[in-house]
Amino acid sequence: MFSRLFSFIVCLAIALGAYAQAPKYIFFFIGDGMGMGHVMTAQTYNRTVLGNDELLPMMQFPVSSLAMTYSASSKITDSAAAGTALSTGYKTNNGMLGMTPDETPVYSIATELQKRGYGIAVGTSVQPDDATPGAFYAHVKSRSMYYEIGLDMAHSGYDMFVGSKLRGLKDAAGNETGLIDSLRVNGYTVAFGREDFEKNKDNDKIVLLNNDSTIEHFGYTIDSIDSNLHLPYITQACLEHLTRVSPDKFFMMIEGGNIDWASHANDGGAVVKEILNFNEAIKIAYDFYLQHPDETLIVVTADHNTGGMQMGVKDGPAEVNLKNMDYQRVSIEKFQQYCKGLIDSGKNVEWDAMKSYLKANLGLYGSIAVSDEQDEAIREKFEKTFIEHESDDTETLYTTYNEFVNEVFTTLDHINGIGWTTTSHTGDFVPVFAIGVGSELFSNVNNNIDIPAKMRKIAGITK
Ligand SMILES: [Zn+2]
Repeated sequence: MFSRLFSFIVCLAIALGAYAQAPKYIFFFIGDGMGMGHVMTAQTYNRTVLGNDELLPMMQFPVSSLAMTYSASSKITDSAAAGTALSTGYKTNNGMLGMTPDETPVYSIATELQKRGYGIAVGTSVQPDDATPGAFYAHVKSRSMYYEIGLDMAHSGYDMFVGSKLRGLKDAAGNETGLIDSLRVNGYTVAFGREDFEKNKDNDKIVLLNNDSTIEHFGYTIDSIDSNLHLPYITQACLEHLTRVSPDKFFMMIEGGNIDWASHANDGGAVVKEILNFNEAIKIAYDFYLQHPDETLIVVTADHNTGGMQMGVKDGPAEVNLKNMDYQRVSIEKFQQYCKGLIDSGKNVEWDAMKSYLKANLGLYGSIAVSDEQDEAIREKFEKTFIEHESDDTETLYTTYNEFVNEVFTTLDHINGIGWTTTSHTGDFVPVFAIGVGSELFSNVNNNIDIPAKMRKIAGITK
């Protein structure tokens, strides 16, 4: 009896100890689609091309491990099931958000922390109603129910949302849904772009969107659209906002959504630049941690691997050539838009003009040598696309690329030594990096559902 009582007291003391040490500030970074190969390629670029002796900020964290990502319905998860696992601690079917497979709503660590007085911000470089951010506040059976996801956002009570654009503003018939009004009725100021945000940032509840709603995401880092929102900017904005409205404790989730988009498109150069950009955002949280080391927890992970990106490709070059990524000035998406514009114009496109474009914007036929065989394959697709107008399109999850665009980027990544296994997701491990209060709990192999469970434990949340 005595020993039982003693163990009860010990357990109670440990539990109370956990409460006493609960982190006041929690940062959760999710690199969408960011697999091991993605991270290692970016780190190798950082070391060999940029000449940085220091590891990428996330790789400097004292705890690093792995997470398994499979969903309830598949060995290969999608972002909705993975987001739900990472936010709520429940496995669900691909496509479902904030619900178990039987459609029972489950609640995210953000909602639970909000109930305990934490300020909450959710930010992403893609749409704020997309699967990963949506998993932190929405409960829908399909990730494409954008209006319902938007309503859940309006009713969440969170302090700040950031992303590119909302997709629930019109219904299937094209009629206005009144979603912006629903956000406003629930106390949110909706700001479009940096200038508008700077004018409205004294409001307590903010939804910050891009000022350009014609693009689906913030624009790729490699395309350097200066006026757009970007991850470091929004991380700083969320930090300043939360520090003002909830200085005692807060939680923020920041998603590097463009890593996934670039990976679906198999654009290695764009992936590397997105991961560096993601790490600039992480650096902001890390600098905050250095000022509050005993009160802060930072966890970085990915929801799944997209594309199976690796250094090393079948029949590829003897050496990986990451320096070539510096000659790349446009993403595959920008290149696709350029080519589509030419096709739609109906004008004749001269090969010499295209060759000059490839040289100036991708380095091909200039700093990057193209073999006769590669030249022949590119020329063949060029003829088919621009002269014969018979090119087939390839669809990936988000975008459609014509054959010529695909051939050019396949050649570029092949010369660079970057290999891909798919334009979809893979079932591989993803990395986990952590620093701060309770971070040691993440040091073993994690199932993705363990991550919010461990956050709950560290924050002293008992069900
Ligand atoms: Zn994803």
